[in-house]
Amino acid sequence: MEFQFLGTAAATSVPLVFCNCELCQQARRKKGKDIRKRASAIINNEMLIDLGPDLCSQAEIYDIDLSKVKYLLQTHSHSDHFDGGHFITRWSEYATKNLTHLDIICSSGTCSDMNHWIKENEPSFDIHDTSWKKDMNYLKSGDIKVVNDYEIIAVDSEHDKRVEALVYIIGQNGKYMFYGTDLLNLSRKAWNIIQNYKLDLVVLDQTYGRGYNQGGHLDSGQVIQIINEMRDRKIINEKSYVYATHISHEGNDTHDNMEITSNVNKYHIAYDGLKLEF
Ligand SMILES: [Zn+2]
Ligand SMILES: [Zn+2]
Ligand SMILES: [Zn+2]
Repeated sequence: MEFQFLGTAAATSVPLVFCNCELCQQARRKKGKDIRKRASAIINNEMLIDLGPDLCSQAEIYDIDLSKVKYLLQTHSHSDHFDGGHFITRWSEYATKNLTHLDIICSSGTCSDMNHWIKENEPSFDIHDTSWKKDMNYLKSGDIKVVNDYEIIAVDSEHDKRVEALVYIIGQNGKYMFYGTDLLNLSRKAWNIIQNYKLDLVVLDQTYGRGYNQGGHLDSGQVIQIINEMRDRKIINEKSYVYATHISHEGNDTHDNMEITSNVNKYHIAYDGLKLEF
């Protein structure tokens, strides 16, 4: 499996547009790994995880042909993860040529909310239209969906009950990864699902630094707790890749400084464009 981070920021990006804090100033100076766009990722250049607002520039920077995307795995519909304006260009009114069929996988609540954003852009459009090439696949926590050689396992993220936000285990050819953002908490039920897999890659929400948690997401202390529990339960081993993403400027630091602390705790800090193969 080839996995690439297209964006590793929380909703606010780094640097945050009007912010003058130490981290945002350093990001503007240093650039590189310290410039973070809104969280999104792609598997094997064909399975997009979250159709976010920075998708166009991410595809250009990392040379990804989005016309080849066959699957959209949507965690939830918050505006940093779903951009209705990009999505509606699949309708014939925008004259997009030779659409690749798209399998959309999400909760039914996320689908309803995506339709809300679509209609904010074009009131006459509807996600359930049969005229554009897509299939909707609704999952709830614990469901397993097989699409071609991929296995998708849905897990409740507790991040937004209204839209039944999900995080996912994705498997292909005996390899498994966990994409865990946005994530508030892994319940006992969630652990019971994850426990069934040996994970080659774990990606976790580290919106906040320790002591800065404003709610809705994990902070670095909670990331370390989850990683330790995954090791204790033998879900991951010393060969598994473990990365934090969805980084905000609140209590986090520059990439290099965060790497020093995270390496002590046996994980890494993701950066935009990072590609992993396993
Ligand atoms: Zn988010
Ligand atoms: Zn800032
Ligand atoms: Zn969110």
